[in-house]
Amino acid sequence: MTLHYILFDLDNTLYSPRYGLELNVGRRIADFLVAYLGLSLEEVLAQRRERLQHYGTTLEWLMAEKGYTDIEAYYEAIHPAGEADSLAPDPALRAFLESLPLPCGILTNSPREHADRILQRLDIADLFTHIFDLRWNGFKGKPHAEAFHRALQALGSLPETTLFIDDIPRCVTGYCALGGQGILLDEENAYPGYPHPRIRHLRELTGFLH
Ligand SMILES: [Mg+2]
Repeated sequence: MTLHYILFDLDNTLYSPRYGLELNVGRRIADFLVAYLGLSLEEVLAQRRERLQHYGTTLEWLMAEKGYTDIEAYYEAIHPAGEADSLAPDPALRAFLESLPLPCGILTNSPREHADRILQRLDIADLFTHIFDLRWNGFKGKPHAEAFHRALQALGSLPETTLFIDDIPRCVTGYCALGGQGILLDEENAYPGYPHPRIRHLRELTGFLH
């Protein structure tokens, strides 16, 4: 089927993991969990690793199992105002996105304010028709099927006609399970045995546009 749309993940997809932004987010999440749950760092990380198999994000886990309700306080702690300061405008990325023959959007498990900061720092904010964040998705993030279906419905698009790119294997396989065309971006060659389409750099996407 002819492709109509390209849906991008945001973090570690539109910028490289080597900037360490996601590592810093992970540290802030761990600090938050230690304070909120009153457990050691080791216990917190072990619990999170085990329970996150069932949820798209840490916030979803906290809300479902730990009685957590203060979404805004969580986001303020995890995504402080200066979090994207290590990023800089990316003219090559901008040129690449502008060269794509299809409209593009973003499906992220982060909140909108985080997405806006990142996109402004990279100077690509104007290149996306839609940004679907975790609030928009009712705090049910990728890889849940609902997250993909809601975005596709808003786009008037189908999995078969929408290319989706993400750096997390379970997000991509979740999309492929719906019949979607999913591509894993694996810049650091962390998943050499991944059995589905995998690219090392975004510019390889052009090979999938037909
Ligand atoms: Mg990502």
